[in-house]
Amino acid sequence: MGKRHCTAILLAGGQGRRMGTNVPKQYLDIAGKPLIYYSLHVFEQSEIIDDVILVTERGQTEYVQKEIVEKYGFKKVLCTAEGGTERYLSVWSGLCALRERGLEGQDGGLVFIHDSARPFADGAMLKRLYDEASKHRACAAGMPSKDTVKLVDERDFALNTPDRSRVWIVQTPQVFETSLILAAYSGMMREQCIHVTDDAMVVETWTDVPVKMVRGSYRNIKVTTIEDLEIAGALLGRQ
Ligand code: C5P
Repeated sequence: MGKRHCTAILLAGGQGRRMGTNVPKQYLDIAGKPLIYYSLHVFEQSEIIDDVILVTERGQTEYVQKEIVEKYGFKKVLCTAEGGTERYLSVWSGLCALRERGLEGQDGGLVFIHDSARPFADGAMLKRLYDEASKHRACAAGMPSKDTVKLVDERDFALNTPDRSRVWIVQTPQVFETSLILAAYSGMMREQCIHVTDDAMVVETWTDVPVKMVRGSYRNIKVTTIEDLEIAGALLGRQ
């Protein structure tokens, strides 16, 4: 089989409220470029990614098209789509855009779902994910947890301590066969939504396909708070 067609859904919706800034975090300047630039750059350079669907906050598609896509000359962006009030609704919007463009993946095509708030994905990581998704149909970047993790009750008292050697911290990209992720999300959208925080969870709940965890990197942080912005700025400034 030749190379599978790979579409990236890059999420840049939401307000980024935990950052406490006026500008949504995906447009904040880090080391001279807007945060969202870095993921787009990785996809643009990658031989694996064929095209990109960019999901933005409602009302920001024109801004992103002009000030990011055209300004930096990103050629792989097929279209921009408006996101929803929750992350999973933004993913659904990206999946609908993909379906409207006939990229449903009859040929075993893959979808890479990625948070624009993670500027440190890299080409080698995309290749590892491509290989594992080709073998297992569903995989997610992550890393073994360096910290011990506690499950707590609603008053923050420790309930139990999972065996740390079995705990992974989950990242993005998360990569799925297009038909599989469409089926999983369609199932979820038909039913009562549970509290969905990542896409692997949708596949775990609405299909019987196990999701393979693949090493991302410890650098692959999600820029969520001001501290993360400082760390990301230091790492990017050094590159
Ligand atoms: O809020 P959180 O940090 O979990 O967001 C992860 C990613 O999901 C970010 O890149 C953000 O732009 C995106 N997102 C979205 N639509 C939302 C909320 C978050 O596209 N409604």
